[in-house]
Amino acid sequence: MRKFLQPKYIIFFILLVAAFFLLRKGFEPHEDVLIAGDQSEAICPLHKIHLKLDTVVIAVRKDDPDSSYIVFQKKNFPMAQDTFYLLQWFQDDEHKNLSRAQIWYCPACREAKRKIAEGS
Ligand SMILES: [Zn+2]
Repeated sequence: MRKFLQPKYIIFFILLVAAFFLLRKGFEPHEDVLIAGDQSEAICPLHKIHLKLDTVVIAVRKDDPDSSYIVFQKKNFPMAQDTFYLLQWFQDDEHKNLSRAQIWYCPACREAKRKIAEGS
């Protein structure tokens, strides 16, 4: 038993554990994507259709939540969700390297937003 407590065995064991965690992290497919909960039963309050899942970029919101554009957005395409907005970037180690997030959006809202942006 004493033989196994030699430093070289302990170091080998620590390396083995470290390698396991590094490899496991490398194989996680959505490492940098924030995963959304299931909202497949949710319905757009404006268009009354089911939402769809998409992966979008994460950004920190700089607009004032009471700005006229936000009010316009809520009225015309509340669920376009083409960006995942944060009020401030994640502080914790688990989330700080995220760049994209899954999001549930309404296709009709996106279409409405696109048409308005094109001015048609
Ligand atoms: Zn909608």
